[in-house]
Amino acid sequence: MLAAVFREPGNLEVTEVPTPEAGPGEVIVKVGANTVCGTDVRIMKGEKTRGIGRDVILGHELAGHVAEVGRDVRGYRAGSPVVLAPAISCLRCHYCRRGMENLCLNKRIVGNVVDGGLAEYLRVPAEAVSAGNLFVANENVPSEHLALAEPLSCCINGLSNYRVEVDDTVLILGAGPIGLFHLQLALLSGAGKVIVSNPSEARRRFAGELGAHVLVDPTTEDLSEVVRGHTDGFGVDVAVICIGLPALVNDALRLARKGGRINVFAGLAGAGWSEVEANLIHYNELVVTGASDSKRENYSTALRLIESGRIAVERMITHRFPLSQAVRAIDESAGGEGIKVAVLP
Ligand SMILES: [Zn+2]
Ligand SMILES: [Zn+2]
Repeated sequence: MLAAVFREPGNLEVTEVPTPEAGPGEVIVKVGANTVCGTDVRIMKGEKTRGIGRDVILGHELAGHVAEVGRDVRGYRAGSPVVLAPAISCLRCHYCRRGMENLCLNKRIVGNVVDGGLAEYLRVPAEAVSAGNLFVANENVPSEHLALAEPLSCCINGLSNYRVEVDDTVLILGAGPIGLFHLQLALLSGAGKVIVSNPSEARRRFAGELGAHVLVDPTTEDLSEVVRGHTDGFGVDVAVICIGLPALVNDALRLARKGGRINVFAGLAGAGWSEVEANLIHYNELVVTGASDSKRENYSTALRLIESGRIAVERMITHRFPLSQAVRAIDESAGGEGIKVAVLP
């Protein structure tokens, strides 16, 4: 079968590899779609190296149909539409046992160290099958929409850390796919006003179509003035950092009201350092949280939100490529022109 194999940064080889067959406990999925993630771009640029294997098939946002069911597997049959939560947690470590499986010490991620979805077929490891990482989805939802359950599930995990309460004013810094998911989750959670800041006019327009109340171009407007104007001078209840620009952390601390909640959702560029005015956290009693991966529970919620049409995934897929053009697909995603790029094997 054809697959896009990550050799080293800058080298993704689309090549023939053996088609996997289902061993005991395993399920083989015929991949219908794999959407490209910012993480794939960072892996290719060599910016993300921790937990990344070599000679592994890339791609962790995927959906498709069951092709083959291994011995001793129950609950799946050939032809069923499925989506995979790619983080395989051990379910036994300190964190897994305390309800934080997304922070598992022994986590293995499909598309990072286990062969992923930029291929015609995917082998779902037995431990992922038995843990319930493979979800049976609604027949009527296309694979390319279902694949977005992965990034959405990570945003839902973030939301559970920063919380949005009814009538909150929420500031979303960045309107890429992640920012657009947080925008929609804030609206679903009952936010009274959502302010979205992004330099791209096209992305701001899209955020507006998805329901953002206030759109800001941070390159020509004074974001703090806009925020003050919309919050009686107080600042926002919640600020979510959705682009990995270190300076945004301090912006978020300054733009939140006393007792406000800040989520560093994006992984920061470079070494991840950001100089912040820590006294803002101290005097304003700010609550700063992070977010990493997602739990199976978040994935399940993401899938329901997509299947029921409560998250506008359809319009978020702006580019499509065949598997043979996986390299172009990642370049396109890196270029930042579109929102989400799907690879359809
Ligand atoms: Zn992703
Ligand atoms: Zn664990």
